Amino acid sequence: MSQSLIGCHALVWTGNFDKAGIIDSVVRTHKAGFDLIEFPLMDPDTFDIPAARQALADTGLAVSASLGLPEDEDISSDDPAVVEAGRRRLLSAVDVAAGIGATQLCGVIYGSMRKHMDPLSEKGWANSVEALRAVADHAAAAGVSLAVEVVNRYETNMLNTGKQALRFIESLDRPVTVHLDTYHMNIEESDLFQPFLDCSAQLGYVHIGESHRGYLGTGSVDFESTFKALGRIGYTGPITFESFSSAVVSPSLSRMLGIWRNLWDDSDHLAAHANRFIRDHIAAVETISLH
Ligand code: MN
Repeated sequence: MSQSLIGCHALVWTGNFDKAGIIDSVVRTHKAGFDLIEFPLMDPDTFDIPAARQALADTGLAVSASLGLPEDEDISSDDPAVVEAGRRRLLSAVDVAAGIGATQLCGVIYGSMRKHMDPLSEKGWANSVEALRAVADHAAAAGVSLAVEVVNRYETNMLNTGKQALRFIESLDRPVTVHLDTYHMNIEESDLFQPFLDCSAQLGYVHIGESHRGYLGTGSVDFESTFKALGRIGYTGPITFESFSSAVVSPSLSRMLGIWRNLWDDSDHLAAHANRFIRDHIAAVETISLH
């Protein structure tokens, strides 16, 4: 874990990813002490690649990219036109990720991120597998690896547990990894320890989020188990802080995630606290893994 890059989701800073928003979020992520910034690519076609590259080069920050597919670009749809639109969206997101120097694209990239009113169909699962294989091949050629994020039942009808994600990537038969998020695990998993062990070899990305998505340590997520498990499996991938408040609004993302409450409004204070919280937990757990 000591080799893990510690990251911050860019929506801690702004919901507006124009040139100024990109530069501001990179500079403040760096100032808060993080190693990496994760950009949500909700609109990859308008993302200012040169501005991001310059800001990242100026600060030395590493970068990753994420997204949740919208309903009309859902590759787990039964409708071939919707699947094709999603496939195109993902290919374009891979190109933006590669363009800014990200080596990972994660998130809800296997279906649409929203409350579904019906269970996933068999055809939908097969459509997602077929589309994501093509995206994974394109990503591999571009030097980007994909990680599928396990999220709660209100945000997908497809991958709610680590074990479901393992079954999905097995059917993909591509080097795609599992992305676990403590906020979602706290809703769906039996505990915050065993799923990390179950996914161990396939775990490629981790989100650290509190149960109400606010300050770490002020909700019900069992972070002691989380970090002990990450230490136990010798995890070395990125560990990224994710937090949302109605104080920072992305029209496309905040509403979908149900960000209605103002849990904080000082982004700099929140982020510096999260950076210390994560690094302190890692340092403590390293002492027990030595023996
Ligand atoms: Mn997440």
